[in-house]
Amino acid sequence: MKTNDNLYDLAPRRLEQALGEIVSPPFRAKQIEEWMHVRGADSFDAMTNIPKELRARLAERYTLDFPHVVERTTPAGDGSQKYLFTLNDGQRIESVYMPMGERTSICLSSQAGCAVGCTFCVTGFFGAGRNLTPAEMLGQFFTIQHEHAVPMEQMNVVFMGMGEPLLNFEHLVTTLEVLYRNLAPKRITVSTSGIIPGLDELARLDRHPNLAVSINAPDQRRREEIMPITKKYPIEELIASLRRFPLEKGRDLTIEYVLLAGYNDAPSDAIALARLIRGLRAKVNAIPFNADPNLPAWMKRPSDAAIDRFVDTLVSHGVRVTVRRSKGREIAAACGQLRGKAEPRSRASRERELADGRVDGAARVQPAGEQRHRVHRERR
Ligand code: SAH
Ligand code: SF4
Repeated sequence: MKTNDNLYDLAPRRLEQALGEIVSPPFRAKQIEEWMHVRGADSFDAMTNIPKELRARLAERYTLDFPHVVERTTPAGDGSQKYLFTLNDGQRIESVYMPMGERTSICLSSQAGCAVGCTFCVTGFFGAGRNLTPAEMLGQFFTIQHEHAVPMEQMNVVFMGMGEPLLNFEHLVTTLEVLYRNLAPKRITVSTSGIIPGLDELARLDRHPNLAVSINAPDQRRREEIMPITKKYPIEELIASLRRFPLEKGRDLTIEYVLLAGYNDAPSDAIALARLIRGLRAKVNAIPFNADPNLPAWMKRPSDAAIDRFVDTLVSHGVRVTVRRSKGREIAAACGQLRGKAEPRSRASRERELADGRVDGAARVQPAGEQRHRVHRERR
């Protein structure tokens, strides 16, 4: 049996056409669009000002299904919570709710898995999944926004959950178009591992979200090691693509940098990073590594002193930098870990462990979450 199409998968213009075919008068179509894109209705029955007969006709052809929440972590000290959703085909994805004073951020997944395969990332460790549909991305957003009754004007969205958003380009763009109905583009950030063709395509759009790029290593050799995609898109070419990315007035690029103890956290690495990004209008977001039993045993979070040293060196080389230390930010950086806990270990994972020479597999403790979000000596 053919399942009905989900109306949330249609870009606003396509939705208008689709509704135009079965809905009249035209103002009704507008009302339906508002129920969806402004209020995030997940059933036609919720649309109380739409005649019952019309709701029934819509339900014959279409659905408005969102993914279902299967688990929520208990709120951390700062109120942040991670959500585990299940999709129609049984795949599971994560999102994070992060209240931050006057503003609230929701971190969304763009894929169920990730083919990029960064060696420090649990999502990458479990391998490629599939692209999420617009309905699945919007569903994460509206479900969490409703649960916490967050006013739209306080909302920020970051695509920093599971997956590589620029490898799910078309669905990402549809999702952005719907989100723009409620949120200005500057309230949305897309984080990428640096898919150059995707960056160039994003640059060509009329409206741009903020851009965060995971650099994570200060040179080609080390970036290849921890982000194998660097062989395909070399670090210098990536930086060149960032130089040509159109930046709106008052905006900065974010350069994400996962700090791994003894690997890329030395003052000399900070200097190399400062050189690499020289001339870019960018700030660095240093992210202390989040340990996980599925990741290589040698990967460790640096000590606070090492983090401070790295940050101070960047600052002294004229780089603006923030450190992600709040619990919410930390659990967001660890997207994939909640799903990973429940996932049966694959053969690949066992093989990788053997190759690593890891014998015990003992769960390492998550870094004690510091419950402050510290802006580290921002310098303009
Ligand atoms: N695929 C996109 C967005 C999802 S990953 C990207 O790579 O940018 C979001 C961020 O989490 C990235 O900056 C990534 O480097 C970081 N990250 C992944 N695993 C991490 C871990 N174990 N500890 C800390 N940060 C991690
Ligand atoms: Fe994919 Fe981003 Fe994880 Fe790399 S860090 S594997 S690109 S989700």
